[in-house]
Amino acid sequence: MEIIDGKKISQEIKEELREKAAEQKSRGEERCLAVIQVGSDPASTVYVRNKKKACEYIGIKSISYELPEETGEEELLEIIRGLNEREDVNGILVQLPLPEHINEERVLSTIAPKKDVDGFHPVSVGNLSIGRPGYVSCTPAGVIQLLKRSGIEIEGKECVVLGRSNIVGKPMAMLLLRENGTVTVCHSRTKNLKEITRRADILVVAVGRPKFVDADFVKEGAVVIDVGIHRNPGGKLCGDVDFDNVAPKASAITPVPGGVGPMTIAMLMANCVNGIGG
Ligand code: NAP
Repeated sequence: MEIIDGKKISQEIKEELREKAAEQKSRGEERCLAVIQVGSDPASTVYVRNKKKACEYIGIKSISYELPEETGEEELLEIIRGLNEREDVNGILVQLPLPEHINEERVLSTIAPKKDVDGFHPVSVGNLSIGRPGYVSCTPAGVIQLLKRSGIEIEGKECVVLGRSNIVGKPMAMLLLRENGTVTVCHSRTKNLKEITRRADILVVAVGRPKFVDADFVKEGAVVIDVGIHRNPGGKLCGDVDFDNVAPKASAITPVPGGVGPMTIAMLMANCVNGIGG
């Protein structure tokens, strides 16, 4: 059984991007990411800080907007429209979740698709589904990189995605399809869930429930990718997969932490450096 090392793979990607960003800079093409946070949710603050740190490491300029919780929707949209127009800004990221009085869909749809480095704009999602170049959501893109860089072939494989959220499950399914996998998507209304997940050569779990998947869900020799992140009251992290129970049955598996988690920021950086279709 192989433990897929997301920390190592994300570091490899970051080194490649650092070189590319330095080349771009030497041609006078420095990339710039605008990061917007509304309110002071502690988890969001940590994510935003890590994104800014990653930009600094890669050699991408970052500008940040830390807006108070009570910021109005129109005020936020105006900032985004301004950034859409700025030629020196290549990427715009609005940290989610937003306060309740702000309509998330309206905000994400206001980001120009050519600067939508999170890949959440309906145009980006549409481009992914019809096979056109466009930004791809970072976490599922990271899963594809983990598989490819671990030498795991996707073409022709039975791929099962557990979860159908807009940010993970659905784009994950589209990406596996683009790589010529045979894809099944499961969700809370799926009947005979274990029968379906046990068909998977590659099982991607994004169900949002701690240690939901045990060995009973998994075929002998399957590749198991765990997207979930949960923190128990003691501060320890675990995933959607019961790692100790599933690992002996899998041919390869991602741990939590150190699996999919570090890939998300690496792919955000890749989107910033490579641009659309990169
Ligand atoms: P989500 O929006 O809560 O979606 C969960 C999905 O799982 C839904 O499609 C839901 O089905 C399905 N589901 C829930 N309970 C189920 C059950 N008992 N049986 C079958 N399906 C069930 O979660 P998400 O945003 O996709 O995130 C999933 C996990 O990934 C979370 O733990 C999150 O923290 C983590 N995450 C990690 C990263 C990263 O960087 N590594 C990034 C994003 C998310 P319905 O659609 O029918 O409700």
